[in-house]
Amino acid sequence: MMPFESIFLIYLVSAICFILGLRGLSSPQTARRGNFLSMSGMALCLITTLIVAPGRNDVGILSALILAAVIGIYTAWRIKLTALPQMIALLNGAGGLSSLLVGTAQILRHQAHTFDTSVGIITGAVVFSGSLIAFLKIGGWYRLKRSNFSNILNILIAAALIFYWVRFSIDDSMTTACLMIASALILGITLTLPIGGADMPIVISLLNAASGFAAAGIGFSLTNILLIITGALVGAGGMILAFVMCKAMNKNIFKIFFASQTPAQSVADNSRQARTASISDVAFLLQNAQKVIIVPGFGMAAANAQYALFNLSSVLQKKYGVEVKFAIHPVAGRMPGHMNVLLIEAKVDYQQVFSMEEINPDFETADVVYVIGANDITNPAAQTDPSSSLFGMPILEVYKAKTVVFVKRSLAAGYSGADNPLFFAQNTLMLYGDAKQITEEIIADLGTK
Ligand code: NDP
Repeated sequence: MMPFESIFLIYLVSAICFILGLRGLSSPQTARRGNFLSMSGMALCLITTLIVAPGRNDVGILSALILAAVIGIYTAWRIKLTALPQMIALLNGAGGLSSLLVGTAQILRHQAHTFDTSVGIITGAVVFSGSLIAFLKIGGWYRLKRSNFSNILNILIAAALIFYWVRFSIDDSMTTACLMIASALILGITLTLPIGGADMPIVISLLNAASGFAAAGIGFSLTNILLIITGALVGAGGMILAFVMCKAMNKNIFKIFFASQTPAQSVADNSRQARTASISDVAFLLQNAQKVIIVPGFGMAAANAQYALFNLSSVLQKKYGVEVKFAIHPVAGRMPGHMNVLLIEAKVDYQQVFSMEEINPDFETADVVYVIGANDITNPAAQTDPSSSLFGMPILEVYKAKTVVFVKRSLAAGYSGADNPLFFAQNTLMLYGDAKQITEEIIADLGTK
């Protein structure tokens, strides 16, 4: 049996790997190293846990490990980059489910529970069911608007949950434990179901944070120092991210869960006319511009257009001497840092990539803004229309540029479902088509001139 001090030391090394790994993830240049460090920390603690587990069932553990590894590797291999947010939601759910299962096993083993076990179980159950709903909603498979009924229902279920929790702490009965878990599972569903699409990034971060706190709770009940540290890291990281996103979207966390939301509008039946442009029109505008700002959004990721974008910026800079910048909104795409990852993957020079705060003053002096597969993050209704579901969210102020070119397939709304009046503005040109194909055609057009 390994001495306690050695186990503690190894767990401490793993925890340091996680902390340094997180630090590495703060910049695209060091993200790969950060990921590798975190993976090493996880491998170290897995091996140690396997060695020191008392009365372990080797066959059972190994079979579970192999099965989980096969599922994990297969899913990560097959998943499209655009479906990563759904995968993150599922992974959060898996974190919640494991806290729920480990906590329940603790109760069954000891026929009793502690405060931290029930906190871990309840949080794990809410995270598990809430993450499944988030998974369905991000994938666009489920939409439901909030009604006053949602809040009343949530309050009733939360009251039932508290009742069973208190009762369980008195009677330690398995039946009460099951009712407590069922209430927590239902609360996860009813809390997440009515949340609007535009708020989903914040909800995912909160669920992530909650899965960390659930793990920390279970860590206390198992007196496992590593689980406490990693749970706290995930919890704190998720909370910080949620607050950063709230700031970026000018949202109030409380309102996301409890305030009634304005139904989103659609432009599908809009009779207004948008001005359209051809490939050569846009190629002409771009090559004659002094300053071009590229604004990528979810459609760029969906079309895998990042490499074409890199080529376009290279041609414009090298052949025509145009100054090219990339503007990234904090919630562009479908996960935090989505656009940064893709641009870095396509070898775009990071010196050319700017955050919303840095680039907004630049739009006034831009000759052309090339908005590729983006919509909500440019929507001026967020500043001007209190009835829009985006109202209050800071945006990339592309409307200030001389010409705005939107590359997308139609006038359809973005993720929030909100109407974008910029499509119909005097200085806007719509170029309909797939983001990658259109960009490649513009490059081809530029190449022939
Ligand atoms: P949007 O969803 O607002 O708009 C994307 C646009 O891309 C669509 O209007 C669509 O229009 C177009 N598009 C889709 N596929 C293609 C394609 N192949 N070629 C060209 N265009 C395409 O994305 P934004 O990035 O502007 O904004 C992000 C939204 O997602 C925000 O509302 C944010 O809150 C939300 N969100 C963000 C998350 C995050 O963490 N970043 C997580 C979850 C949600 P069309 O169909 O006409 O082509």
